[in-house]
Amino acid sequence: MRALLVIDYTYDFVADDGRLTCGKPAQQIEQRIVSLTEEFITNGDFVVMAVDVHDEGDHYHPENKLFPPHNIRGTKGRKLFGDLGDRYNHYLKSEENHLLWMDKTRYSAFTGTNLEQKLSERSIREVHLVGVCTDICVLHTAVDAYNKGYHIVIHKDGVQSFNQKGHEWALGHFKDVLGATMMETGRKMIEE
Ligand code: ZN
Repeated sequence: MRALLVIDYTYDFVADDGRLTCGKPAQQIEQRIVSLTEEFITNGDFVVMAVDVHDEGDHYHPENKLFPPHNIRGTKGRKLFGDLGDRYNHYLKSEENHLLWMDKTRYSAFTGTNLEQKLSERSIREVHLVGVCTDICVLHTAVDAYNKGYHIVIHKDGVQSFNQKGHEWALGHFKDVLGATMMETGRKMIEE
């Protein structure tokens, strides 16, 4: 079994008027994320919607000094964006064997969550990553996955950022430093 980790593909990070949006580049990966999610569920693999959550008035969170408020608990900003949301927002707060909503409060989906336990229950050693931002939450999740010994697969056409330089840098880092397999349109990328 494999796992697809869909990182922070929410209204605040993707919509034009999201509070910390990656905008159009993130909207362009929507259908790729939807089709991968469908593929994993159909195959009986595991899908985790890892979604940032912040509390209004939490003065101690380190992101307060770095970013405007986003993904506030109970707001539309935390709903999955677009077609992905139309299909899967109703899974909010529920747990299924093949699709799990996972709140996270830090960049990495492994920090302060039971993700590692959920993966080990299913004997999963290979994690596929999509979502935003390539150089923030996707990167930190990938670094943790590497340190915990998982094989990482990055879908290049399924990740984006509000920082294109950071996006490009992170793609190189996944491959060259974390040993990730890089996929595009579902195929392994061939070295030029
Ligand atoms: Zn955040």
